[in-house]
Amino acid sequence: MSLKETTALVTGGGRGIGRAAAAALAEAGAAVVVNYLSDGAAAQRTVEGIRDFGGRAWAVQADVADPAQVEVLFAETRRLLGGRLDILVNNAGGPGVRRPVAELSLEDWRRCLEVNLDGVFLCTRAALPLLPDGRGRVVNVTSISARSGGGPGGAAYSAAKAGVSNFTRACAKELGPRRITVNGVAPGVIDTDLHRRGTPAEELAAVTAQVPLGRIGSAGEAAAAVVFLCGEEARYITGEILEVNGGLRMD
Ligand code: NAP
Repeated sequence: MSLKETTALVTGGGRGIGRAAAAALAEAGAAVVVNYLSDGAAAQRTVEGIRDFGGRAWAVQADVADPAQVEVLFAETRRLLGGRLDILVNNAGGPGVRRPVAELSLEDWRRCLEVNLDGVFLCTRAALPLLPDGRGRVVNVTSISARSGGGPGGAAYSAAKAGVSNFTRACAKELGPRRITVNGVAPGVIDTDLHRRGTPAEELAAVTAQVPLGRIGSAGEAAAAVVFLCGEEARYITGEILEVNGGLRMD
């Protein structure tokens, strides 16, 4: 797959699936802006990993949930990438505070929706003037929980990700006339900090036991789906959510 002479922005690209997607896009030839929230050292490692194999990458800090910071992120992206953004990967996100609805504060609910859903809206809107007609790609990282309702304490997260999936379809319709594709990747259980730091070992073992392929996925396996949707070969796919879950959910 060649993405030579293309440019990309990966939100939340410092760690996990975002890091793997940034690296895979760069390996395919894209120059990549790697956005992160708070872990600048991790983002710098992502960038250096890409530069090590001769790729082009830069780290830019911004909270995708904050409209003013998204404006700065896109001004910086435009400057670094020479005014053209071929590929936007809306990856930044995570479950935030996990609590039963009865114990969930409005503040925690809102923060989860702001990061996972507002962030996708704000970055997509900011990308629209930069995406080239006939070639632009948007890939939103949603989740299996958009359909399953999520794990324990995942009401806000699954609601936000369901929003991301349908926002993806709406944008695919809206941008179809410009021949810009908008798709989603819905990971099941992927081995990243999201689970390493946030999911109790017994809960993870119980879910893993239900995966027909018998294991959880790697960040690289989720990233491969992102890269596929960004490629020329995927030009007739839009409004689709590609499930990367080892068969955990098939309907
Ligand atoms: P991760 O390892 O925890 O990485 C999350 C990344 O998002 C980090 O780079 C983090 O930045 C960034 N981020 C978080 N909030 C942000 C914000 N407000 N603004 C900018 N960046 C922000 O998680 P992951 O597993 O790779 O998750 C990536 C995406 O996949 C998320 O959307 C997640 O919901 C989705 N997903 C993951 C799984 C899974 O099993 N892992 C399953 C379904 C969906 P810092 O490094 O600076 O903190």
